[in-house]
Amino acid sequence: MSLKFEIIKKDNRTFARYSVLQTKTSIVELPNFMPVATTGTIKSLTTLDLMEMGAQIIVCNTYHLHLRPGEDLIESMGGLHKFINFNGSILTDSGGFQVFSLSKFRKVKEYGFIFRSHIDGSIVELTPKKVIDIQMKLNSDIMMVLDYPTKYPSSYEENLLSVNLTTKWAIESKRYYEEVKPKGALFGIIQGGFYKNLREKSFNEILGLNFDGYAIGGLALGEPREERDWVVREFVPKLPENKVRYLMGIGKPDEILEYISLGVDLFDCVIPTRNSRRGTVFTSEGILRIENAKYKNDERPLDVNCDCKVCKNYSRAYIRYLFSINEVSAGILASYHSVYFFIKFLEQIRKAIREGYFYEFKEDYLRRFKNT
Ligand SMILES: [Zn+2]
Repeated sequence: MSLKFEIIKKDNRTFARYSVLQTKTSIVELPNFMPVATTGTIKSLTTLDLMEMGAQIIVCNTYHLHLRPGEDLIESMGGLHKFINFNGSILTDSGGFQVFSLSKFRKVKEYGFIFRSHIDGSIVELTPKKVIDIQMKLNSDIMMVLDYPTKYPSSYEENLLSVNLTTKWAIESKRYYEEVKPKGALFGIIQGGFYKNLREKSFNEILGLNFDGYAIGGLALGEPREERDWVVREFVPKLPENKVRYLMGIGKPDEILEYISLGVDLFDCVIPTRNSRRGTVFTSEGILRIENAKYKNDERPLDVNCDCKVCKNYSRAYIRYLFSINEVSAGILASYHSVYFFIKFLEQIRKAIREGYFYEFKEDYLRRFKNT
C-alpha cells in the first residue's frame, strides 16, 4: 500500500472534511472531483488542458484500456501516466460497470465475467486477479476491485447475487493484492442497490476486509434523487473516518455539495464533458443552454464569474454560433469551461472547509444555483 491519508480540518456543522492524500505519484487534496478519462483521454480535451486547469486526479477505465490499446502496450510505454502524459494521480475503475453497460453478450460466473468485446466481438474474461494485474501494468495509483454492478431498478435476488459476488471477489482481490504487493492502493466497493439489508450486508462484509479506501457503487443509474440521498445519508457517515470515501459516478454541483456535507471525499462524473458537448454548460449561476436564442447576441462569457481561458476570450454569441454550425470547437470550448468550473468549484469547497465557512458556502450556493 502506498497511500497516506491525513485529515487536516473537519467542518463544525457538517461531516465535511478537508484532507490530504499522498498517492505514489502525487498529492491530492480532498474533497476532489475526478474528470473522466475512460479511454485514456477526456473527451474533447487533452491532458495538457487538465494539468493547466489544476486537475489533481483523474479516473481511467480498466475495461476500455484492456481492450484497447492493451495493458502490455501501456506498460511498455512506461505506464499510463507517461503514455497519456498526466503528472497527477490516476484512479482506475475495475470495469465491472462497463461489462454491464457496453457488452451485449455477458455471463456472470462465480470466478468473474465472460463477455464479448464491444469493439471486435472477441471473448474476454475479467476475474478479480486479472483486473488487479491489468491495473498494476497500467501503474494505477488507486486500483478498484472487480465488482458486480446492478441496473436500476433491479430485483432483490439480483442485488443479493451482486452483493455476494462483490464480496467474494473483494476477498480474492485483497488476498491477491497482499500476495503481489503492488505500489498502488486498493479500494473496495459497496453494492446492494436500494435494499437496506443488502446495503448493510455489503457494507459490513467489505469493511471487514480493510481496504485503503471505500467506494459506494450502484448509484447514479437513473434512480430518484431521494433514493440516492438515502443511501449516502445512511452509509457514508458510518464509513471509517481515517479512509477515503468515494462516491462513484456522481454528480451535479448541488449533489456534490450535499454529499460532501455528509462526508464524501471523492467524486467522478461524465456530465461536465457529456453535457457540454450537447451545449449545456455549468456556470456559477446554474446550468446554461447555449443554444437558447436569447444568447444570439450575448457578448458575455459563458460564466461571468469564471476566469478560464474560454471565458476570458470568447462570448456566448460566438460559442452559440459554433454549436449552430456543428463545429467541433463548440464542444471543445464548452467542455473546457465546464471541467474547469468543476475543478475550481471543488477548490472553493476545500477552501471553505479549511477556513470554517463551508456550511454558509453550501447554503448560499444552493440558494443561487439553478439546476434547470
Ligand atoms: Zn469559464
